[in-house]
Amino acid sequence: MPIEDIRYDSEVMRGFIAFSRAVGIAVLAVAAAMLATWLGGIGPLRVLLQSEIAARGGAAAVFMIACAALLTRRRAAHASSALSALVAVVGVWSWLQYRGLLPRADWAWLDALLPRWSQRPPAQLTELAALCFVLLGVAGIASAQQRAAWLREAATLLVIAITMAAGASWGLVLAGHDAHLLQRLPILTAAMQFLLALAWMAATPNTGLTRIAVADSVGGAFARRLILPALLLPLLLTFVFEMVQSWLGMPEPLALALAAVAAGGTLAVMIVWVAFLLDRGERQRRTVQALRTDAGTDALTGLANRRRFDAALPAALDAHGSAVALLMLDLDRFKSFNDSFGHQAGDDVLRETGRLLRSAVRPADIAARYGGEEFVVLLPNADVARAETVAQRILAAFRQHDWPLRPVRVSIGAAVAATGESPQALIGRADAALYQSKQDGRDRCTLAAAAQATPV
Ligand code: GH3
Ligand code: MG
Ligand code: MG
Repeated sequence: MPIEDIRYDSEVMRGFIAFSRAVGIAVLAVAAAMLATWLGGIGPLRVLLQSEIAARGGAAAVFMIACAALLTRRRAAHASSALSALVAVVGVWSWLQYRGLLPRADWAWLDALLPRWSQRPPAQLTELAALCFVLLGVAGIASAQQRAAWLREAATLLVIAITMAAGASWGLVLAGHDAHLLQRLPILTAAMQFLLALAWMAATPNTGLTRIAVADSVGGAFARRLILPALLLPLLLTFVFEMVQSWLGMPEPLALALAAVAAGGTLAVMIVWVAFLLDRGERQRRTVQALRTDAGTDALTGLANRRRFDAALPAALDAHGSAVALLMLDLDRFKSFNDSFGHQAGDDVLRETGRLLRSAVRPADIAARYGGEEFVVLLPNADVARAETVAQRILAAFRQHDWPLRPVRVSIGAAVAATGESPQALIGRADAALYQSKQDGRDRCTLAAAAQATPV
């Protein structure tokens, strides 16, 4: 059976690409609002920048470049790469400043140009925001150039890990604690970078890790349902348990134990869910298998039917060439049996014939009902001697069987394929040999005359 590549669910693929674009547009809009606020000090929007946990002015500008890179990925790959490279360069530059390897930028000149606004927050990217931009830049270049999918995945996964840690810290802040991480990665920046990382992954859904999430398979169904809950779970748990601890005054060990139980419980729920999906998939697979078997099986005798034989013969000739033997069988004087004992008794004989043929052949051989009371036995990997042996075994089985109404006998024609012989020619020769067996008195096997070898 051929091994199929992953099949993609095209609707889900379109959904992923639409998600990627929507994130690009939404983040661009928020970043534009942030930048306008930072530059012009627009009153109501200052909340985006003012608190310590909100984004920085510089981040807004870099976000706009990163979104432009994301949105141009399809139509202008080179421009998109260049924009991503710019994002990475600004990130590296800011990060080196934090490490003290470059002098801090002096933005006083820009301040002087801008309208006066009391306590304009600093423009400088925070340290971790800079690092995430470097990673997003790298992911963007790898994605636009359609190279090094592993690099794109590694970079986006790192961004997701860093921004989720910031998210968990935000849970602590909401629960009334200090969270030092947020001073190094403000929550709004973290959220936008998290979304951009997902958007880069979703932009080319049939490559890298996301390809399993868009697969038209049970695996795809899991991934789609479970990835997001799994990503959001740590945020939720930190928040809930910090809250329980500080608001209800629960002692820390108890809250920790509760958190552990909740994490285990959630994992168990996910496992049960996965198990249900797997189970359903397995049942569907078995149904398909049963239907496939039904379609190739003769209902009366349980042997292969004509349709399966018609497919198996050319396949055997292709695979084994001249080492294929074919037996054609026809029950002797069966019309008179039906006339004497009725069709139902005749059907019993056909059923019994099925059993006898099954026990006379090997698993790799195919015994099939060719039509009416005619049968074929296909012997791949067989020569004249083996064809003769099997035919004699069948004749003996009929002779030795204890038939309830009257002895039933069978006539056989055997043919071994010549090199390059067509299925029709081989059947024709076996059929002629069968006719000869009937002519010669039935209850015997005749070997077909050798075929003219046709040049291949
Ligand atoms: P021969 O030895 O020359 O083969 O004689 P025969 O009477 O067997 O002749 P033939 O092969 O032409 O007979 C076919 C008969 O098989 C006709 C029909 O009554 C019987 N038959 C075909 N299909 C079925 C079936 O599904 N059930 C039953 N009971 N009989 C069938
Ligand atoms: Mg017949
Ligand atoms: Mg017959």
